[in-house]
Formats: sequence, C-alpha cells, structure tokens
Amino acid sequence: MAEQPQGAAPVPEEVQSNVLLTTVDWLYNIGRTYSLWPMTFGLACCAIEFIVTGTARYDMSRFGMEVARPSPRQCDLLIVSGTVTKKMVVPIVRLYNQMAEPRYVVSMGACATGGGPFKEGYNVVSGIDKYIPVDVYVPGCPPTPEALLHGFITLQQKIRKQSVRTVPWYRKEYSSAVPIPVLGPDIFGSDPDEMKRVRDVSMKRAMAARAQGQPAIAAIDAAGNARRITIRNPGLAQELTGWKLVSGDGQETFEFPAGFVLMSDSTVDVVSGPDAAATAPTDLVWTTHSAWPASGAAALVDAAGSNVASLSYQARMP
Ligand code: SF4
Repeated sequence: MAEQPQGAAPVPEEVQSNVLLTTVDWLYNIGRTYSLWPMTFGLACCAIEFIVTGTARYDMSRFGMEVARPSPRQCDLLIVSGTVTKKMVVPIVRLYNQMAEPRYVVSMGACATGGGPFKEGYNVVSGIDKYIPVDVYVPGCPPTPEALLHGFITLQQKIRKQSVRTVPWYRKEYSSAVPIPVLGPDIFGSDPDEMKRVRDVSMKRAMAARAQGQPAIAAIDAAGNARRITIRNPGLAQELTGWKLVSGDGQETFEFPAGFVLMSDSTVDVVSGPDAAATAPTDLVWTTHSAWPASGAAALVDAAGSNVASLSYQARMP
C-alpha cells in the first residue's frame, strides 16, 4: 500500500490491502510531474545539450518527457536554452503566452539566466526572468545533460509540492497573459549608461553619414516661363559663397550671394523667369528676365569650379 498521506484518517487494517486513500493534490501532482512535455525550441549552443539529453544515453523519456512538441499549445515546459537577444525575447514571450496552464519554465545556461558571456552585448537581455517567470535555473556554459536532468528533477520536486488550492492558475482573478515587450522602449535597460552609449553610437553614425553628404539639386519644377530649382543639403551646414547654378547650355548662371549658408538637412529654392516669385523666406529670386530653356539641365558648381551635381528637366505645357 502507498504511504499514507499526512493528516489522512486512519484506514482499518482489514481493508488496507483494497483501499487507496490519498489527496487530490498527490494524484494531480503525480500526473503532471511525469508528463511534462517540453517545447521543441532552442536558441544557441545550450540547445545542443538539450538535444543530447533526449538521446538514448541520457534518455529523458524516463521522466515522461520524451514528447517534445512543436506547438506551444501542447507543451507544459519551456526550456530557454541559449542566448536571448532583444529581438528574440519578443517571440519567446509570445510562445510562452500560447502555452496552456499549468506551464513551467527552465532557464538553461548562463546566457538565458543572466546574459552569460554576452551580458555586456548591446543586443542581449540580461536574463529571461525579466520577461517571463522562471521555475528552475540550470547553471553552466553550457550545462551538461546531467545538469539539465538535475534541473528536471528539481522541477518535479517543485511540482509535487504544489496544491490545487494555492496555484495561481485556478484563481478567478488570475490572468496568465504576459505583456509582449516592445523592442525599443521596453527592451532597452533603464541603465542611464546603456542609454547614453546607444545614443553616442547613433550620433556618431549620423554625423559620419552627414559628413559624406553635400548640397545637390533635388528637383527642377518648370512651369510656363518660371523655373524653380530646389537644392537640398543632406550633410553638414555648407557655405555656398561662390557656388553657381548653371543651365545645361551654359547660357544662364546664378551666383549665390557672399555668406549664404545652407544649413544641414535643409533646402533652398532658386526661382527664375518673368513669372517667378519667391514664396518662402529662404527662396532666392534669381532674375525675372532670364530666358531659361524650356527643357535641359541645371548644374551646381562649387567655388573651385567643380561640378557638384546636375539634374535635367522638361517644362510642363501651360
Ligand atoms: S550559456 Fe554558454 S553554451 Fe549556453 S548559449 Fe550561452 S554561450 Fe552558449
């Protein structure tokens, strides 16, 4: 006869061989303990050790765990085996939410538990337990299959101590959904040093990209006799003293006034023709007497006489 549960009423001796008395918790826990179905899921090198744990040499079937399921809806156990990147934590939380209760999580290895060797990496989260609840941590880099088996046994011991009266997933007010983190505001740590480092790197990249940009003709709008030539500066602020706009046939030239600076990420329009009028404070009216060709090209020439940019255009019919 099985060991009598603590606190149970004594069983008369004459029926002891025919009656099994136990608690609902014991029966319920024994069922869950030996039918944990893990998810077929791995993230990095630790996953190889997880796979090895399923081979004949280690044989995790002994624990009723051989049915690794590819669908989270059929799993009880999520083994987070490997490095958790900030990008990957989003699908991990989504998979966890798709698992039915009761469900358990094993954090396998140094990476899943605290970031491991990549803890300082800009793209690695420092512990999956910041996003989903973890039941058992298995240390190691990687943990051996024996260590993972020990983790399973520890989890089984934990399950056998649970009671249907206290587990959260049978409470009315309990909500099992874990908020899915948003890459950016949620996943960057709140450490000010980390934020500053990310900002510094982004700023350096932006400045390097800007240093390569220079003013160029972005568009030519030719309607009737008026021409509007838009110059855009994607780079750092640029003084255009001595720079010229030249028509494709070389007949028309506009020279920027001394001291004219085109600010970073800004545009200026140069308008010309008898109908031309400036519409914005930064517009420059070139001349109202030019006979700018109906179609052709415009070139932007710097103070040294080098052609910086050019664009061809076709006048719209009135
Ligand atoms: S803990 Fe070690 S073995 Fe496991 S994923 Fe990280 S680096 Fe790889």
